[in-house]
Amino acid sequence: MSATHFDIAIQGGGPVGLACAAWCLQKFPEAKIALLDRNPVEDADLAAADSRGIALSHGSKLLLDTINAWPTECANIHRVHVSQAGRFGRALMTREELKQDALGHIIRYRDIHLTLRKALRAIETKSPNFVWKHLDAQADTSNIQAKCVVHAEGGLFKTQDWVESGRDYEQSALVGLVEVENAAPYQAWERFTSEGPLAVLPSHYGPNILNLVWCGNPSSSQARLALSDVEFLKSLQAEFGSRIGQFLKIQDRRLYELGLNYRKEITQGNAVWIGNAAQTLHPVAGQGLNLGLRDAYLLAEKLSALFSKPEDQKTPLAIENTLQDYAQSRKADRSATIGLTDFMARIFTSNLFPIVVGRGLALSALQWLPSVKTAIARQMMFGRR
Ligand SMILES: Cc1cc2nc3c(=O)[nH]c(=O)nc-3n(C[C@H](O)[C@H](O)[C@H](O)COP(=O)(O)OP(=O)(O)OC[C@H]3O[C@@H](n4cnc5c(N)ncnc54)[C@H](O)[C@@H]3O)c2cc1C
Repeated sequence: MSATHFDIAIQGGGPVGLACAAWCLQKFPEAKIALLDRNPVEDADLAAADSRGIALSHGSKLLLDTINAWPTECANIHRVHVSQAGRFGRALMTREELKQDALGHIIRYRDIHLTLRKALRAIETKSPNFVWKHLDAQADTSNIQAKCVVHAEGGLFKTQDWVESGRDYEQSALVGLVEVENAAPYQAWERFTSEGPLAVLPSHYGPNILNLVWCGNPSSSQARLALSDVEFLKSLQAEFGSRIGQFLKIQDRRLYELGLNYRKEITQGNAVWIGNAAQTLHPVAGQGLNLGLRDAYLLAEKLSALFSKPEDQKTPLAIENTLQDYAQSRKADRSATIGLTDFMARIFTSNLFPIVVGRGLALSALQWLPSVKTAIARQMMFGRR
């Protein structure tokens, strides 16, 4: 094998690309894989990177545990309180109802990223044919040839250089860390406001420091970003109410544009798209990375099974068939997760009177129909199998 010829090239060293490389190598250590990573070589250079809190499901924890990639700094969710601002209807989900240790876990993006890098480095020591290439943005990769190309370039809505199917919700998410007076430990709050969902989620810093994800229309979000801390806290208090006492402090405010962008076809010839490179979701249901990790795990299973076969069986046709088989096996989970997220993003933002009333009824019904609540929670925790 020349240094530039590989069985698999993975483009993108974000959480999904890293996890895919790690699972492929764990299942088949001899795999000839190149990971093309545009992030800095040194972890220290990522220490100040993206600190937004990400909700990972119990299913994702089980997957990441298989490669020792579960971050130590993590906050568990035991209860989720869902309500709508100024209207009737609320629902409470608890870990006891679902018979789980936790309903989910909140971890900073950069901790997930750094822990996966560490896990892959450990696996790399036992993987003689793995090459982890750190490239700068202008690097020419045309000399790197691979039988199969995995696209894991990720990206955020409106920053992606492809647009296929989807929806612009005309919303932005303002995220930050907020200190409050009196929060119940392990509790997450999701409140639907006239402009979009407002989530207040636990953090590993302690019960009174919470992750804020406040979705609103782009102009109000931009205006909120520019407010002084005092004015910002005042307007947050007005929108959220006093369930967790006074909002005392806000730090690290950042803005993200939100929308749905997904590929109808996730394979083409010897190429396959996973994670945000395949679908970018609204964060209302906290599903983007959870779905991406399931993509990565399943693809790794299929690719390692194929590439551990004798050389003469790794034909272009066998690769194409394997990728099509992968796409088929992801269909139900992808469409359920994309559909549920899109539904929630739209239904919980509309101000049309019948929808407002219907939404209140739906939340109340959810409260009194434990089987429906459990089914939705299970889809969010484990995806469709
Ligand atoms: C505000 C907000 C809140 C969210 N909350 C949640 C949540 O609670 N739960 C959840 O599951 N998900 C959440 N998400 C979604 C989650 O962040 C993404 O689904 C996840 O980051 C996707 O991972 P990825 O590796 O596919 O892509 P990315 O995280 O975008 O990583 C892709 C990597 O590829 C690199 N890259 C780009 N182009 C190239 C190239 N040409 N060659 C090589 N490398 C390249 C990038 O530098 C990056 O490092 C949220 C998103 C937002 C915006």
